[in-house]
Formats: sequence, structure tokens, C-alpha cells
Amino acid sequence: MEILIVDDSPTSRMLLETILKNAGYTQLTSAATAQEALDLLRAWNGLPDLVLMDINMPGMDGIEATRIIKADPKLRDVQIIMVTVSDEEEYLEQAFEAGAVDFINKPVSKGELRARIRSVLRLKNEMDRRKERERELEDLTFRLAEQSNLDCLTNVANRRCFNGLYAKEWDRARREGRQLHVLMIDIDYFKLYNDSYGHLQGDECLQVVAEAIGKALKRPGDFMARYGGEEFVVVLPDTDAEGAYHIAQEIQRKIAEQGIEHRASPEHGQVTVSIGMAGDRPGNGPRGQEQLLNAADSALYEAKTAGRNSIRPVI
Ligand code: GH3
Ligand code: MG
Ligand code: MG
Repeated sequence: MEILIVDDSPTSRMLLETILKNAGYTQLTSAATAQEALDLLRAWNGLPDLVLMDINMPGMDGIEATRIIKADPKLRDVQIIMVTVSDEEEYLEQAFEAGAVDFINKPVSKGELRARIRSVLRLKNEMDRRKERERELEDLTFRLAEQSNLDCLTNVANRRCFNGLYAKEWDRARREGRQLHVLMIDIDYFKLYNDSYGHLQGDECLQVVAEAIGKALKRPGDFMARYGGEEFVVVLPDTDAEGAYHIAQEIQRKIAEQGIEHRASPEHGQVTVSIGMAGDRPGNGPRGQEQLLNAADSALYEAKTAGRNSIRPVI
């Protein structure tokens, strides 16, 4: 419990210090002028819990000092009680306007001073609690916003998040005159997988596949998203067809490494994917960002008809 006493009269300061010490408040600091008080506050480690501020002081008075404190983002949370003599009561309105929370008359009585301090501290604790709660709410909002960009089953970006990222990447590639590739990835015979192992195991399979795809992406700019059901999309900025084909193979390899059994798969015995790929140099090529996705989707269709577990570039 730290209290700063600001009073130009040594007798007043001593009186306040004595009362406070007797009441059990031991961390007391005193300032003889408003300027000294401001200097102390600015150099304070944190803030004192309370300032007892004399109104009438030579030079800067207590009201002006309070105004300065309340206008300073680093100091404004400190609680200030004004100390007045009764013929200064006309100044009280200004003191409250400046931001003081309470006042006490000189000569200060022991009982009254303790009661005022206790009630101001209660108020301060309540405010601290509220601020803490506000911070918690802000954190929560932030986390929720983050989660709404993620697919909750696989923990990768969802479709909504993908749209934003992809548009940004497209613009960047156009500005920098670079090409970019997209891969559309779809699990083969996934309906049959669900039918033979159940939907819950189907969910687990999706998680394993998503993780395996993620492992195949090496560059920091590469990103993936769950595009829908059992379909994923990967964007490879600044990557040519050869590079994209290599990544597509790597994705198939990482999935194969998982060795997920798929007894109902007509040809392969384990979970495989088909991949359609398409690339463009945004702004120069014939396609817009939507068309590039459609092209990759058509290529995926070709990969499916070609027997699945295969990769097809746009022809
Ligand atoms: P193809 O090889 O032609 O891609 O055949 P497929 O069976 O994989 O494709 P189809 O589109 O016929 O079926 C997709 C299946 O994916 C049907 C649907 O129930 C399943 N699916 C989509 N989303 C989820 C999911 O979140 N969890 C589970 N377990 N299954 C899903
Ligand atoms: Mg499928
Ligand atoms: Mg599908």
C-alpha cells in the first residue's frame, strides 16, 4: 500500500504521515511541491495506490497537478484525494472535474482520513478487477476470431480464411510479376472409407491427411486450407510447374507414409489422394483468381477419371 503525500506545509505533511503510520500504512512518500510530485510519479515503479493532494500550493496548485496527471496515459489511473481547508470549498468542483475521487478537510481527523482511504481503495480494487475482466474478454475475443479462421476438425485454415489469404497472395504475385500454383487435393473413395470404418474414424483420417499435407509444405509462404468435405487446397507462391509437381508428389508420399488402411478402396488398399494443379502469372495469364481455382478443380476431375491416386496439371 503506497501513498504519496503532496503538501507544501511541513507541519501538514508530518501530521498526515503520523496519522497514516499509526493506521498501519508504512510506505509513505512526500513531495513539497506539485512539480516534485509529478516528477516522482513519472519515475515511479508502477504507480502509488493513492495520492493525497493539497489544493493550495505555491506555484502549481493541486488542481492543475491533478489535471496533468489525469491527462497522462501512464499516470491517469492513480487515485487522488484532495486535501482542503474549508474556505477552499469553492475549488472542490474544479478538483472533481480535474479527476479527484474524493476530498478531505483540514485539519485532518484520524477517523475520517482512514475511512476515506479505505473507501477509495475499495473503489480502486473494484476498478482493477474490472480491468482484469476486460483484458480477459479481449483475449477471448481475439482467440475466437482466430478460431473462426480455422477449421475445427483439422486445425488448418478454413474456406473463409483461405479466400482472404489467396486474394492477398494473388495480388502480391501480380505486383511482383511472379507466378503462383494451386493444388486441389481430394481423398479418393472417401465415402467408401466412411461406409466401412464409420464417420468418426473418417474424421480421424481427415486429421491425419491434413497433417501429412502440412508436412509436405516447406517454404514459409506456402499455405493450405480445408476447402470443403474431404478436399484441401494448397497455394504455392512463386513456384513454377515443376516445383508444384514436386510438392504434389511429396504430399502423396507423406500420406502414403501414414499407411492408413482403406480396405474398401477398389485399387489401392490404403488412403490415397488425387491432385489437380494449375498455375498462372497473375495479370499476364488469361485467368483470374477464380478461374485458376476452377482450372485446378478441372485438373482434379481428370486425375479422378485417370484412376485416382494421381496428379494432373492443367493441360
Ligand atoms: P472420389 O474418389 O471420387 O473423391 O470419391 P469420394 O467417395 O471420396 O467422394 P464423394 O464426393 O462421393 O464423397 C465424399 C465423402 O466425404 C462423403 C462425405 O460423407 C465425406 N465427408 C465429407 N466431409 C466429411 C467429414 O468432415 N468427416 C467425415 N468423416 N466424412 C466427410
Ligand atoms: Mg473424394
Ligand atoms: Mg470431394
